[in-house]
This record gives sequence, structure tokens and C-alpha cells, in this order.
Amino acid sequence: MAAQLIREWTAIQQFPAATQEKLVDLLSKLKNQNVSTLTILVIGKSGVGKSSTVNSIIGERVVTVSAFQSETPRPVMVSRSRSGFTLNIIDTPGLVEGGYVSDQVLDTIKRFLLNKRIDALLYVDRLDAYRVDNLDKQVVKAITDSFGKEIWHKALVVLTHAQLSPPDGLSYEEFFSKRSESLLRCVRQGAQISKKNAKSFAIPVALVENSGRCNKNESDEKILPTGSPWIPNLVHMITDMALNGKDGILVDKKLIEGPNANDRGKIFIPVILAFQYLLVIKPIQKWIKDDVVRETKPSWA
Ligand code: GDP
Ligand code: MG
Repeated sequence: MAAQLIREWTAIQQFPAATQEKLVDLLSKLKNQNVSTLTILVIGKSGVGKSSTVNSIIGERVVTVSAFQSETPRPVMVSRSRSGFTLNIIDTPGLVEGGYVSDQVLDTIKRFLLNKRIDALLYVDRLDAYRVDNLDKQVVKAITDSFGKEIWHKALVVLTHAQLSPPDGLSYEEFFSKRSESLLRCVRQGAQISKKNAKSFAIPVALVENSGRCNKNESDEKILPTGSPWIPNLVHMITDMALNGKDGILVDKKLIEGPNANDRGKIFIPVILAFQYLLVIKPIQKWIKDDVVRETKPSWA
């Protein structure tokens, strides 16, 4: 047998039985719909919990998590298979460097994704952040410019640090709804999704708590303050995303390079040249000719 590049998803056995059962169900649901591979792209700013979320989904420490800036410099794809189904998760470096969206990081990600099809995009941020700013909008815009607006049909907003006590006497639900609504508004603005189209781009929001101190239910599953086990919930939302009837985003050369700026005005070149000839060169030629005719010979000649 040929050497296997994709490892068996053995870590699924690390999950509590209740979680395992739900995950296996979701995978067979995908297989029943003839989906045998799922490729998930995890993207966002630095330090928001992208790598931790990848590790939580796989169930083992597969990518490096760091509390401080120096992060995974390159994208990493982790592939795991289970009974004929393959899960690919791509962890990426943070898109923001020195207060700006880094074109270099974006370029590295785009190159890495060449010829891959994205079935789900996890746009990660923290639940415990209290405002969105222009930088968030720039991050969304950069993703949209890179992969096209359609990518948001395959997107899920993932909010980490979900085990929190809301400030200002707000209930957990109120806080969650305020935070997700302001972030979704920012995504719609950054992606230039009009109010009219907002419905067709209904982007779901998932909650995640990667901390080892996450509360658990009686079945030993990690739960949110709302009581729901978040790992099977997240995988469920990803599954729904994959089966939502919209095609995955194939990252090909055309998509990455976009319309070639050098080609854009090419059809106008003959017209511009003709105008130049008629309006500039012709009059100058005539003027020179007239001048030559008018010229009187100097007396010394
Ligand atoms: P990345 O830069 O987006 O990949 O973020 P990391 O996954 O490396 O996480 C950055 C820091 O936040 C690490 O110290 C993680 O342990 C921590 N962290 C990530 N997700 C969570 C979470 O859901 N809850 C808590 N409490 N800490 C988290
Ligand atoms: Mg990381």
C-alpha cells in the first residue's frame, strides 16, 4: 500500500462519548450527501484563538498556540481521515501586522491555497472584545478582495473566549447578540454586502471556549455558559455550511490575481493613438509645413 499522507483521525477518541457520537453522525450525514472531503479555512487577526480552535476541533495539539505575537509564519493544513471521510483544516498567520492588514501575509495565504477548494471559512475573533473598528473592516475587505464576495456565503463568524461574565449587568444572551451584531455589521460593510443582499448572506455566529478551564456537562462535554456543548455545535454549523447548496470557493490563479491591471485599458490604446495622431501630431506637422513655406531666406543666404 502507498504511504498515507493523510493521518487517521484517531484523536476523535479523545472526545467524550457523547461528542464522538455527534461527530460521527455529522460525518456520515456528509458522506450520505456524497461529501467525502471538507476543507476549512481559519482566518482572522493575531491572537484571537485561530490555532487553539483548530486544535480543539481536531482534538489534539496539532498547531502551535502562542500567547504572544510570534505566530505560525506560514499557513498549515492539518488533514485527518475517518472511514473514508477527510477533514482538512487550514490554520493561517494573523492578517494584521503593525496595525495594518499585511499584504505579505495575505499573499502567502493565497499562494498556499492555490488549487484548493474552500468549503467553509471560519472568521475568528474574540467574544470578549467590546468594539469593532476600521481595522476589522479592513481585514474583511482584504479577505473579500482576495477570494471574492462569494466567500461570505461559506463563512461562519467564530467567537472565542466564550466563557465570560458580561459587563454592565447585561445578560449573556444580550451581550452575545450585541457583540455578534456589531461584528456582522462590520463584515457586511467590509464585504460591501448591501442591506438588500444581507439576507442571502446570512452569516451564522458560533461560540468557542478553547480554555482548559471550560465548564463541562455531566457527559464531560465542554459547554458554553448557555449549557450547550460547543464542539459538536460548531461542527454541526460547519456541516450545514458545507451543505448549503452554494459551491465551495476554488482558489485558482484567476481568482488570486484578479483582473490583470495591465490588460484593463488595452482596448482603448488604438483609439487614444488615433486621437493623438489627429489632434496633436497632425496639427504640429501642418504648423511646421506652413512655417517652412512662410520662411523667407535670410539676406546672407
Ligand atoms: P491565534 O494567534 O489566532 O492563532 O491565537 P492562539 O490560538 O495562538 O491563541 C492566542 C492566546 O489566546 C493563547 O494564549 C491561547 O491559549 C488563548 N486562547 C485562545 N482561544 C481561547 C479561548 O477560547 N479562551 C481562552 N481563555 N483563551 C484562549
Ligand atoms: Mg495561530
